[in-house]
Amino acid sequence: MSLLSGKTGIVFGVANRRSIAWAIARAWVDAGARLAFTYQGDRLRENVEELVGSLGQECPIIPCDVTKDEEIQATFDALKERFGVLDLMLHSVAFAPRDALEGRFLNTSREAFRIAHDVSAYSLVALARAAAPLMVNGGSIMGLSYYGAEKVVPHYNVMGVAKASLEACTRYLAYDLGPQRIRVNCISAGPVNTLAARGIAGFTDMLKHYEAHSPLRRNVTLDELGATGLFLASEGAAAITGQVLYVDGGYQIMGM
Ligand code: NAP
Repeated sequence: MSLLSGKTGIVFGVANRRSIAWAIARAWVDAGARLAFTYQGDRLRENVEELVGSLGQECPIIPCDVTKDEEIQATFDALKERFGVLDLMLHSVAFAPRDALEGRFLNTSREAFRIAHDVSAYSLVALARAAAPLMVNGGSIMGLSYYGAEKVVPHYNVMGVAKASLEACTRYLAYDLGPQRIRVNCISAGPVNTLAARGIAGFTDMLKHYEAHSPLRRNVTLDELGATGLFLASEGAAAITGQVLYVDGGYQIMGM
């Protein structure tokens, strides 16, 4: 029997085939899960429909801007109707205004700070609250973080502060939802060349830096992130909650 057969899941954050969310979704589907997908705004709808069409299963595809409570409610109402129960949720969503991802952190505006935290951190709380009532058999919720949450990474700026919040939200949610056998974890991924990453000034240098300095002397692949997402979704991770798992070629252990 496949690792996730009989499980249902919802995936937030597929923009295109390079999205980390897509890598994890494929791993979940290959392991037997039935999935629903969301997208933000009409701009991405066709992309997501085309990708999801290649999966060989009929998946609900639902519009959801994670900053809008009414869209979150509608998403989980639709999910309840289609799946009844939910086992897995992937939060792979982040945004900060581009001008906040260059220059000095000191100059972060109140509005850029608010937007970055709303989209990238608070949304995990809102989505977990909506998902939990459907996770009647327990569940696994996971988000995507980055090392800039704990150390200064030039240009990552307000996104690093939002990721620190995301990681703290993960721990508090893990505590609240533990009695319902719902686990909440983060994957802290090394840099991957995606749409969101290209918004960070100096991103190409980041890739080179990891290649030169991480213990494994290379960058992480999308398939490897998919495999970690599958592990966290599976029974193998049944006693793991509230954690940040580094999937970064070991870069996080380095002092210099
Ligand atoms: P991506 O493919 O661009 O995915 C980011 C997704 O977030 C997109 O689908 C984007 O949709 C969505 N999003 C933004 N604002 C949203 C909103 N208000 N409502 C709903 N969705 C929204 O990039 P990615 O690199 O795979 O990013 C996925 C996650 O991994 C993010 O949390 C990111 O911080 C994290 N991460 C990435 C790296 C990396 O190097 N790539 C490393 C560590 C962690 P739109 O395109 O419509 O905005």
